[in-house]
Amino acid sequence: MSLNRQQALHEVLDRVPNHVERPSNKISEYFGENVFNLHVMRSYLPDEAYEGILEAMEKGTPISRKVADQTATAMKEWAIGRGATHYTHWFQPLTGSTAEKHDSFIAPTADGRAIEKFDGSLLVQQEPDASSFPSGGIRNTFEARGYTLWDPTSPAFVWGETLCIPTIFISYTGYALDNKTPLLKALSAVDAAATSVCQYFDKNITKVNATLGWEQEYFLVDKALYAARPDLAMTGRALFGAAPAKGQQLDDHYFGAIPERVSAFMKDFEMEAHKLGIPVTTRHNEVAPNQFELAPVFEEANLANDHNLMLMELLEKVARRHDFRILLHEKPFAGVNGSGKHNNWSLGTNTGVNLLKPGTNPKTNLRFLTFFVNTLAALHRHADVVRASIASVGNDHRLGANEAPPAIMSAFIGSQLSSLLDGLEASIKAGKLTPADKTALKLEIGRIPEVLLDNTDRNRTSPFAFTGNKFELRAAGSTANCAVPMTVLNTIVAEQLNLFKAAVDARIKGGDKKDDAILKELQHLIKESKAIRFEGNGYGDEWVKEAKKRGLSNLKDTPTALEVWGRKEVAELFSSLNVLTPEELHARQEVEYENYIMKRQIEARIAGDMASNIVLPAAIAYQNMLIDNISGLSEVFGKDAKAMTAGQRDILATVSETVSALYKSTSALREERGKINKIEDIAERAVKYGSVVTPLIEEVGEHCARLEQTVDNEIWPLPKFQEMLFTR
Ligand code: ADP
Ligand code: MG
Repeated sequence: MSLNRQQALHEVLDRVPNHVERPSNKISEYFGENVFNLHVMRSYLPDEAYEGILEAMEKGTPISRKVADQTATAMKEWAIGRGATHYTHWFQPLTGSTAEKHDSFIAPTADGRAIEKFDGSLLVQQEPDASSFPSGGIRNTFEARGYTLWDPTSPAFVWGETLCIPTIFISYTGYALDNKTPLLKALSAVDAAATSVCQYFDKNITKVNATLGWEQEYFLVDKALYAARPDLAMTGRALFGAAPAKGQQLDDHYFGAIPERVSAFMKDFEMEAHKLGIPVTTRHNEVAPNQFELAPVFEEANLANDHNLMLMELLEKVARRHDFRILLHEKPFAGVNGSGKHNNWSLGTNTGVNLLKPGTNPKTNLRFLTFFVNTLAALHRHADVVRASIASVGNDHRLGANEAPPAIMSAFIGSQLSSLLDGLEASIKAGKLTPADKTALKLEIGRIPEVLLDNTDRNRTSPFAFTGNKFELRAAGSTANCAVPMTVLNTIVAEQLNLFKAAVDARIKGGDKKDDAILKELQHLIKESKAIRFEGNGYGDEWVKEAKKRGLSNLKDTPTALEVWGRKEVAELFSSLNVLTPEELHARQEVEYENYIMKRQIEARIAGDMASNIVLPAAIAYQNMLIDNISGLSEVFGKDAKAMTAGQRDILATVSETVSALYKSTSALREERGKINKIEDIAERAVKYGSVVTPLIEEVGEHCARLEQTVDNEIWPLPKFQEMLFTR
């Protein structure tokens, strides 16, 4: 249903905040109550099953049929106790969101009654009707069926009346059809590589977990105003609109008081998130009006990512209860700050050590430096792959657009760590290190903690920043499934750590002491990866020039960035670490091209429809009002009307010119789209959608914005930016 603007504005005026009651003021009393976590398992499962699940979680050992049956029975009992009537395998198809197929626990009995049934086989594996999910041709080519398989490392949870079981989604022949499978493989690759490098420092380290703390930005818009904007509903962003008179330039919104309706909404969804075990802690206003951010305590990366996906769905659901709609799009309003999703990433050991946190003595600092420098080296080797991992149609409106990190990948580490690396690079000599050399180096390395205390300079313009005890990938879009950049980051770091291990071992074999070998290899990496370090302003034009000089890529838009998945060395990277086969990688590239084209196509259609059916009629109605006015005045005043109608004539001319221009761009948009759709090659089609269709959508938008600023406010049919951004 579409509302008109005036009706929508009236609805908004009548809104009152919902009253939200907490179950208890102590969050700990309800935190995780809807999660089948270790605590619940401990009380519901026989010892044998509990141990079996623990081992599967820690070591990835297969779960026996018996343990699966015991777990399924326990899960069913527990879930029914929490109000569940159905269960579903919850998975992450390549569409970027999540999917589920609900089945009831009911099994009919021979005597005409029914029992609640759920066993190990239903827990472990399902065959959803998967034909509608994108596969990049994999299923068509190889096998039509797709299977979901239980991921025991992420706990099941009850959502409404459904027991949700996190799963991977693969084809009959074992090809990954989702975002979780490669993530789990990348996490296992980085675990193996990092654990092996940790052996240089501490033999007790037997497991390394990648950790992820995401920060989610979003906009809230009143549901009535949303309903009056078909573009928001269909594409997630306003395809046009004049920038609000009161914009973010005043900066009074940032950390400002959160309005009552919004805070009721936030309280509500935080409660729901906490019940689901999502450790949300931070909430504040963002840069733009009606823009907000939330962040949890970081967790193991796979779990953290599941939690982010759950949270995006939860935001959507809870927003509706408060008559809001959530906008997760990267750029819902042109000219207003966009939304991203920072991925804070580190590596943590089974011994409780954060490998990217400087230690307290030269030995632990050498360990820190090892992981720190190898991460920089990995980014340097594979900057393009990282760039490709955050490419999306929405993110194209942010990256490099003077508010979000640029499309050029670089790392910010702070001036003090920079000078430390420079110092190491200069002071490690070839050949054997003398005792004096070593003392000097130890001193240098020992300085790290003090250095970091001073490192308060946080460069917000860097896409990849070291922030004291973790790296922060800031270039991901707000709609992104973090699994994609996290798969890439963990894979490239795994590869780099393997290379490092081999190089250090070779140096040791060649006669170097262990510490010398490590230092020399670090020095080599510091030198080699220097180009990726950039401390300056990432938004500036000078950086674009400087980056070019350094040989860094600037893959400006999604179609350009997606080309990276087709490179031979990239296929080699993923297949050598058993993360993605070349076929799987190719399929992903196809799906992403397809996604890009589809989304631009929808935008183009909606832009055309709105221009023709909503904007042009309003403009023409206004034209007629002006014409009536001018001819009326002329009738009454005759010749004298000329001066009196000068203003109206000017306005009429502007409206008429803009109407013609809009009509022309709309027709061009339709024609070009028709031509481009005929291009056989999908990559070429995507490139054309980027270079021809996208600018035409913008052109249509500019004419519409011009008309919005000219036409009578009373008859303008679409909610304006300032109404959507300031009404709450
Ligand atoms: P800031 O000062 O920028 O707010 P915080 O230390 O509060 O920085 O962290 C911001 C985000 O980084 C949070 O989501 C937090 O959970 C996450 N984070 C902190 N430490 C780690 C870590 N070791 N691994 C992954 N994420 C982390
Ligand atoms: Mg951040």
